[in-house]
Formats: sequence, C-alpha cells, structure tokens
Amino acid sequence: MAISLERARELVRAAAGPPLPAETVPIAEAAGRVLAGELRSTVDYPLDTNSAMDGFAVTAGPAGRTLRVIDESRAGSPATLGVDPSTAIRIATGGVLPAGAEAVVRLERASPTGDGHVTLHEAAAPGWNVRRAGEDITTGQPVLPAGTRLGGPELAVAIGAGHGELACRRRPRVALLGTGDELRDPGTSLGPGQIHDSNTVVLAALARDAGATVTGRTRVADDPAAARRALETAFAEADVVIVTGGVSVGPHDHVKPALRDLGAEETFWGVAIRPGRPTWFGRRGDTLVFGLPGNPVSAIVAFVLLVRPLLVALEGAADPGRGGRGPVRARLTDPLASHPDRTDAVRVRLRPAAAGGGGLEAEPTAPQGSHLVTSLAGADGLALVPAGLGDLAAGTPVDVERL
Ligand code: AMP
Ligand code: MG
Repeated sequence: MAISLERARELVRAAAGPPLPAETVPIAEAAGRVLAGELRSTVDYPLDTNSAMDGFAVTAGPAGRTLRVIDESRAGSPATLGVDPSTAIRIATGGVLPAGAEAVVRLERASPTGDGHVTLHEAAAPGWNVRRAGEDITTGQPVLPAGTRLGGPELAVAIGAGHGELACRRRPRVALLGTGDELRDPGTSLGPGQIHDSNTVVLAALARDAGATVTGRTRVADDPAAARRALETAFAEADVVIVTGGVSVGPHDHVKPALRDLGAEETFWGVAIRPGRPTWFGRRGDTLVFGLPGNPVSAIVAFVLLVRPLLVALEGAADPGRGGRGPVRARLTDPLASHPDRTDAVRVRLRPAAAGGGGLEAEPTAPQGSHLVTSLAGADGLALVPAGLGDLAAGTPVDVERL
C-alpha cells in the first residue's frame, strides 16, 4: 500500500534528524553552502568615513567659495593634512575623509583656478557625498541568520562584515548506484536491449545543485552479490545512498534483498505519486537510503520531491525557497483531472500569468508519459495535482516544485 506524498515527506524529514556538523570553509569556497550559525560582523563597514565621489573634501559651507587645495586622499592612501574653512583636499571615491572635512563637492561642481585653488559651485551641507564609518554595518551586528544558503550576494555581506572563512554545514555525501545489466555510458552505441545510463549522471547533477558532494557514481550489474558489494561500499562513504532501478519485485531486482541482507530498515515502500511510485526509503545506521525507479523521468521526479528535501534538511537550510528550490503557486493553463488516489507530478513551464493580476501560470509540457523524457524539455517545475479533487478547471492554483 503506497503512502501519500505528504506522509512520505514527513517521514523523510523526520529521518534526517539534526543538520550535519559545522566545518570552517574559506569564503572563496563557501558558495552554495549553508551557514551553520548566525553571522555577526567583526568590523564597522565601511571602516572609515569616506567619500562617495571624486571631488574635494571641505568644511560645510555655501556655494561660491574659493579654497586652497592642500593635499590628496585616495582609496588606500589617506591625506596627512586636515582641512579648515579656507582649504580643500582633493579626494577620490573611497578616500578617507580628512580631519575637519564635513562634505565632498564632486569634481563636476568645482573648477580649479590654475593657481592651486578650487571654486565650488554648490553648497556643501554636512554629510554631503560622505559615507559614514559603520553606516552599513556596525561591529557585532547580526548580518545573516543561521541556515542561510550562500550565494554571491550573501558572500558580499559576509566579506563586508569582516569574514574570510565561514562556519558552514558539512555538505551531505551522496553515493549513486545505477543498477541494470542494460546500462551503457551515455553517447556510446547500443546493442539490442541496451540503454544509456541517465540516472547516475542526472541525479549527480541534481544532488550537487542541492548542495551535496557526490562520492561515487557506480553502475551495478543485476546480480545479488554485485548489489550487496556496491551497497556496502556506498554505506561506508556516504550520508545518503541513492540506488536507481532494480528496486521492484521482479526476478532481476536485487536491491531490496541486498538491503535486507545488509541490515537496512525500511521506512516506506511505494509513494502515491505519478511518476515515481516505486520508491523505497530506509536507513542503515546513520546512512539514509533511497531506492528510486529506474525510469529517468520517474527518478528525477522522486529525487525532486523526496531526496532534495532530505539534502536540504541535512544542510540545515532555513529557507529552502531561496535559490529556486521551494514550491511556488501557479494557475493551471489547462483543465486537468485529479486522480482519485495519487498525486500527479505534471511537468510544466512557468510564466507570468497572461490574464493579468500578477502571479504565475503553469502550462504542461505535453505529452506527459513517464517514459517520455521529452516531457522534461523546457520544464521549469513539477505541478503537484493532489489526489481526489475531481476535475480541475483551467485557472486552478496548484503548488509547483521547481526543477
Ligand atoms: P527497473 O526499475 O530496473 O526495472 O528499471 C525500469 C526502467 O528504467 C527500465 O527500462 C530500465 O532500463 C530503465 N533504467 C534503469 N536504470 C536506468 C538508468 N540509470 N538510466 C536510464 N534508464 C534506466
Ligand atoms: Mg533493472
């Protein structure tokens, strides 16, 4: 008896337990990782009160003043002198504001007189064109919460806050096993009955995209001893083992018996989704194990709906919605029949709603057969059509899990 997608996700989330331990990572290698704790600034940013413009640092005063230029302040080389109401210091963007200066008049509003003076064509109010020390961030200020996934913008904040390394969650280690005597390397010529191995390549890409490290991609023959050996190796190196194919109950499906022999415990077998129904989940010690359907479309769907949330939980990512990972709501462009007892994961394109009023609409990439890999071409997400809702009219809002 298959369990519902919601129940399966609850069980996966519960199995994840607390996030993986933290480790210190150089900031140049932290992109895509998740912050283990709240990040506070170790500095004032900017460190010094400085100029927002190329121009002249001056005391506050009216337009029309002619001042003697006595020094220069550039980014990285502050002036040695200070200003008084009769003097100005040439200053570059980012240059430290000299002692006594209250404002900067930009170059375009000033005319050099040719004899070491400058005439200012605008009034200089206190703070004009000046960035105050600590204006952006002050020492000790929290800048990023625990669980933040670090992209370029977040790294800029962390660097501004004085950090050169960050405490990040360890990346989940994922081992991929593709079972099947018929599998061959992508791009090679095939004999009768053979098929190109898609899953180990595709799921590795999806796992890395979700923040994981892939420890191995192994093809496994349809043979009980081979299945056991490959699983043992994977258990030794990974936090999450993903096996595709060979999970069903046919005479050549050796994965479940091998898992049983190795002492893995089953949490569920069968999820009421299409595609992706024959999905197995369990654990052996601290290692979590998925057996996913061999069909590439089904494997991707099961990965996105069940494996990705596990990886996100192991990383302790607080907001899986960032970085295109969480669900969005969108209106169906076409009527769809909800199935009486399973959730359909319909491959859809997302676009801004044509009808106005904002929001997104989801258009199925036709046709939808789970054996049709072209249903993935151009797909932005999986529209989840819940069970038991009868006929859904065009315009019905549904959750879309982004690919
Ligand atoms: P199975 O669950 O082993 O019966 O596999 C179901 C279908 O998926 C069969 O047509 C397999 O050939 C196919 N399949 C299994 N593994 C892969 C893979 N790694 N890449 C592409 N297709 C696969
Ligand atoms: Mg097989």
